[in-house]
Amino acid sequence: MPAMSCLFCRIAAGEIPSQTVLATEHVLAFRDIHPQAPSHALVIPRRHVDSLWELLDRELAGHLLLAAAEVARLERLEQGWRLIANTREHGGQEVGHLHLHVLGGRALGRMLAKP
Ligand code: 5GP
Ligand code: ZN
Repeated sequence: MPAMSCLFCRIAAGEIPSQTVLATEHVLAFRDIHPQAPSHALVIPRRHVDSLWELLDRELAGHLLLAAAEVARLERLEQGWRLIANTREHGGQEVGHLHLHVLGGRALGRMLAKP
């Protein structure tokens, strides 16, 4: 996908405004425009990657995961939080630039049924 037709590439480039939570050399975290919890941020790689399916760069994977945990600390989510990576069509991914949702600030309920 050409970078500048991608919404999150444009956010990473500062072309579309967003509320930054964390910015590093490799990743950016910003508030979701339609928050599903009191704290809801998206962590993205600055360079375009379609989804987690295409992520082969282990260093970048580490940067993303550590940034997600750092966002949780910055948002003071000591009571707990959830990381979600909707991936491809059946995963419900709507924006085709890899992003991790960091959600917290309320009890989120169980997503997976107990056995
Ligand atoms: P997905 O369903 O692809 O996992 O999640 C995409 C997320 O991006 C949604 O939660 C949606 O609210 C958020 N989003 C879509 N467009 C924008 C935007 O222009 N700015 C911000 N900050 N978030 C957006
Ligand atoms: Zn992109």
